[in-house]
Amino acid sequence: MNNDIERILYTQSDLDSRMDEMAAELNVKYKDEEPIVVPVLNGAMIFASDMIKRLNFKLTIDPIKASSYAGTQSTGEVKITQDIKSDVKDRPVIFMEDIIDTGRTLQALSEVMKGRGAKSVEVVAMLDKPETRVVDFHADYYGFKAPDEFLVGYGLDYNGLYRNLPYVGILKHEVYAK
Ligand code: 5GP
Repeated sequence: MNNDIERILYTQSDLDSRMDEMAAELNVKYKDEEPIVVPVLNGAMIFASDMIKRLNFKLTIDPIKASSYAGTQSTGEVKITQDIKSDVKDRPVIFMEDIIDTGRTLQALSEVMKGRGAKSVEVVAMLDKPETRVVDFHADYYGFKAPDEFLVGYGLDYNGLYRNLPYVGILKHEVYAK
């Protein structure tokens, strides 16, 4: 599996340091709140579980499943395929996402939660790819600004594989050119 990786961009220790820093900010900001933390599955599962362990305020974990991707091509369509169970009315919502690319997924999901009466909506992303943005959307917190490459690992997959890599790396072109 490691042979399919062109280059490692963010190691476990790089990610740990940024998660510590982001958690420190969140722990101040949300200390008197009781937010609903919404990991966007499946990609955010590893990042979100590592982040959530660092948070020391009361929170509810309620994942959502959304998809706009098939293979390496964004279709531009965002579908909620598994919704959260909680009532978000008057509660802060914190999305946890693996990577912001076009921005469509989180823009659409944020609008849904605002429409349901959330007190506030913030987005914590492991990675942000600013070069490929097609809508005006910004993560409130992000670990690293990533280059415009197809990345795998730490929850990011290619056709369901590579999520278990303990780092984020660039997938070799020959792997998806096959
Ligand atoms: P957006 O709506 O911002 O374009 O899409 C974000 C989603 O696209 C991410 O949650 C992720 O599933 C997928 N995505 C975007 N860039 C990459 C990438 O480099 N690698 C992988 N594996 N998925 C990506």
